[in-house]
Amino acid sequence: MPSHSSPFQRSDLPQPEPAPDPLTLARKTEVTQHLKRIHEPILGNDIVSLGMVRNLQVVNDYVYLRLYVGRHQYALQRQVQQTLSELIWCKKVYVQLCTIPGVRITLAVSSGKGGVGKSTTAVNLAAALSRTGAKVGLLDADIYGPNVPQMLGLSQSTVSVTETPDGQRFLPLEAHGIKLMSVGLLAERDHPLAWRGPVMHKILTQFIHEVEWGELDYLLIDLPPGTGDAQITIVQESPICGVIMVTTPQQVAVSDVRRSVQMFRRVGVPVLGLIENMSYLLCEHCGEPTPIFGRGGGTQIATELHVPLWGQIPIDPRICELGDQGEPLPLKLPTAPLSLIFAQIANGLNATFGISTALEPELQETA
Ligand code: ADP
Repeated sequence: MPSHSSPFQRSDLPQPEPAPDPLTLARKTEVTQHLKRIHEPILGNDIVSLGMVRNLQVVNDYVYLRLYVGRHQYALQRQVQQTLSELIWCKKVYVQLCTIPGVRITLAVSSGKGGVGKSTTAVNLAAALSRTGAKVGLLDADIYGPNVPQMLGLSQSTVSVTETPDGQRFLPLEAHGIKLMSVGLLAERDHPLAWRGPVMHKILTQFIHEVEWGELDYLLIDLPPGTGDAQITIVQESPICGVIMVTTPQQVAVSDVRRSVQMFRRVGVPVLGLIENMSYLLCEHCGEPTPIFGRGGGTQIATELHVPLWGQIPIDPRICELGDQGEPLPLKLPTAPLSLIFAQIANGLNATFGISTALEPELQETA
């Protein structure tokens, strides 16, 4: 593997850009307007609004951009070339495709702050998607609390490396049919991941680009909480189609979520939905829900920020117990209320992204 020990020799760190002149600015606007005519067929929106066009640069008569897309990448790349060839001043368009090989849809799971159940949500959603028959990978990039290996029963495992025609790659682990790679697997047991900025940037970038996932329908990335360097690195380096925000009903969580959502919007990544975790406790005897952590936070922020509220997840003490045993609840107890909500969210995602878990849509069309 490339060494992590010499981060200071990097030449690809972002440099401050000089303010563009009016002609360049006008050309950039023109390029953006043209690109807005291109629609991503699965998500049904234009590639600019979906945050798939990044690092757009116009230098004299040349256009350079990065295209962060999942499926249909070659068709979209062709469309970009065609559409921009209409600009009479443009001599050449350079489109860098940023995809994770084999991965159709990359989604990030994020939260405004720690402890709201973000990793638990990522694991349960991965399990629920896997139960629908989808091929799922989970990238645990939460450098502050990489707990996912334990939640899947893989905490003692070590990461191995494989040779590929494109160089060395990390091999993901697998549990319950879910592929996993975690920054926690690089740390000594019970030691913090105390990486400084450039090292962290390099390691996270490797985790995004140098894992041999094979064929995946979904890659879920468990982001670190908040809006720090690590989050921004991951969001900028990966072809994330959208973010799933996790919060709790408490009012104190709301302002953190607001900050987080604004951060994603600023870098052009859409927030697809909100999951309110620990919304209520169901009485074992009468089934009455008690909102022991308060109520309304998820609904309030969903309305205010125009993000759909996908689900309100109950508190279920079996989550902790099964998490410690490495067994996701939706796989162990598929009819528990919590499992049913995740199943609903998983079905919604399959419908949104056109993931057919029986036959490929292309095959269905010709069948
Ligand atoms: P985060 O990733 O946001 O820091 P975790 O997913 O690690 O949070 O969850 C924190 C703790 O809360 C864990 O012990 C987890 O088992 C517990 N937890 C999360 N969601 C629930 C829930 N719905 N019911 C019961 N316990 C939960």
